[in-house]
Amino acid sequence: MIEHTNACINGVWVAASSGATFAVENPATGQTIAQVADLSATDALSAVDAAYTAQSGWAKRTAKERAAVLRRWHQLILSEQEALAQLITLEMGKPLAESRGEVNYGASFVEWFAEEAKRIYGQTIAAHQPTQRLLVTKQPVGVVVAITPWNFPLAMITRKVSPALAAGCSVVIKPSEETPLTALKLAHLAIEAGFPAGVLNVVTGLDAPAIGEALIADSRVRKVTFTGSTAVGKRLYAQSAATVKKLSLELGGNAPFIVMDDADIDAAVEGAMLCKFRNAGQTCVCANRIFVQAGIYADFVSRFSARVAALQVGDGAHAGVEIGPLINRDGLAKVEAHLADAVAQGARVEVGGTRHSAGALFFTPTVVSGVTPQMRMAQEETFGPVAPIYCFNTESEVLALANATPYGLAAYCYTRNLGRAFRMYEGLEYGIVGMNTGIISTEVAPFGGVKESGLGREGGPHGIDEFLEVKYGCFDLGLDPEECR
Ligand code: ADP
Repeated sequence: MIEHTNACINGVWVAASSGATFAVENPATGQTIAQVADLSATDALSAVDAAYTAQSGWAKRTAKERAAVLRRWHQLILSEQEALAQLITLEMGKPLAESRGEVNYGASFVEWFAEEAKRIYGQTIAAHQPTQRLLVTKQPVGVVVAITPWNFPLAMITRKVSPALAAGCSVVIKPSEETPLTALKLAHLAIEAGFPAGVLNVVTGLDAPAIGEALIADSRVRKVTFTGSTAVGKRLYAQSAATVKKLSLELGGNAPFIVMDDADIDAAVEGAMLCKFRNAGQTCVCANRIFVQAGIYADFVSRFSARVAALQVGDGAHAGVEIGPLINRDGLAKVEAHLADAVAQGARVEVGGTRHSAGALFFTPTVVSGVTPQMRMAQEETFGPVAPIYCFNTESEVLALANATPYGLAAYCYTRNLGRAFRMYEGLEYGIVGMNTGIISTEVAPFGGVKESGLGREGGPHGIDEFLEVKYGCFDLGLDPEECR
């Protein structure tokens, strides 16, 4: 299953110049599954050389030709769905069914942007002088650096890289050190699909701060696209200032999940299960604060807790497992710290609340009630299988609570009142609102946050614009102005 453990630069598989490697572990078992090339910052810069050299030739191909290569990549990813899914589960632990879903979801961006490549339009504008003609065209930004996280090792790459390639950019991908193997397999399939050497590169390495800093300091890199923590995103924002790079940042969230007393409670429980426990709670759009209106609070807590208690925990590679391990010790420690803080301040554990016997990184799916805004889990992303439930009384109260955070990625609301649904949609200070649904991700819609959750949008009709520059041309026709009257 593991074909490549070296970085992919200029279409060639390369080891670190020092020969160093780092271990990739299966979080479900703690076993080392591969030793991967540990590139230095200097090694990583050779990927920028390759990407810079390849970019202009790639941009000069017709959109139809670029689309054809993307479509082949899409087909190859789908034909390798099972192998990719097993690799995802092996290196980051999510249940195999979710990994298969991720391959489909990730591939859908490649297909979407293969189509969008052919729909990059310009404009002509009525000129301000009779002798002139004005036109507006779009050109690729140039070399793109994509820094991606471990929670969706495949989809976070295709969501960034497909629009960049469709637009005529070349890319240097720096995948998470937790999940480099899926990225390397994607690169293998990209080479097979026919991307020219240097158009898609993957640099692997443990020292992400040094590699990131070197890539961003390079003035040939014109765009950085990042998904990860807000702290690292802010750092990359600051680093990008020196060379005024374009930026897309998809950072942390603190998603409110609001259940009004007029909601369909069964649908809300079902939505909360999917929204909270997908990927063991390790997504940036996971419900991080569940607000339930007082009239249905007790009913919701008991129905939801019964469902959570029945979740199957274990190695994601085993059939029937719904909740895999946390990614690493830091992830587990954060979950435990948030829970301990909430309990110390008076929250009540309804189900779970302890580590799980399945292995060192497993936590039992947990529901805590009576959570209040002062608690740590109200202010930060827990990123684990812990569902905190808050009680509220009025619509205006919950809107204020939901917006009382520096984050603004995804929010969810359940109500059967149409006026209330629109008031909430308009009032929630979030880039994405799920109304009566807990699942919002799709390649056809723009994904992204406001406030400290980030900049830019991925997917949908807006996704490709992030990788295009607008160019304005003012053409003087050399006419006598009098003759034009
Ligand atoms: P998470 O907590 O989800 O792992 P991070 O923001 O730490 O989020 O990591 C997301 C990606 O950013 C990973 O590829 C990681 O290697 C990379 N990364 C972490 N720190 C830095 C940094 N200082 N500069 C550049 N990239 C970084």
